[in-house]
Amino acid sequence: MTDKCNKYEALFTFQSEEKLKEHILTCEECRKEYEQMKKVSDLIQEVKPYFKKKQSSHKILRTACVLLFFLVSGITFSMNTDFTDTLKYGTTLSAEDLGFPVDDYGLITVVD
Ligand SMILES: [Zn+2]
Repeated sequence: MTDKCNKYEALFTFQSEEKLKEHILTCEECRKEYEQMKKVSDLIQEVKPYFKKKQSSHKILRTACVLLFFLVSGITFSMNTDFTDTLKYGTTLSAEDLGFPVDDYGLITVVD
């Protein structure tokens, strides 16, 4: 893990493309990384015109996504609350565990 070649990023960012390609020829690790990057950039090039054409509807879609995100995260949050409640009262912290006087049903009995 530690001996992984990290020249690729440095060459890609600061050096000329010539030097990068030169290094890629001798370093298998960077060549793999380069090929992966190429695949991704090819994919972006392929998808780009589609998004440019659909920009107006894309904006609406993005707004819908944001709204959906808030909706989903809100639901997730309340679900988590239910889950922790169940955990607290159902298993981890029953009234008996907390040292309260309880009746046969596990309910807290209030004695005068
Ligand atoms: Zn390398």
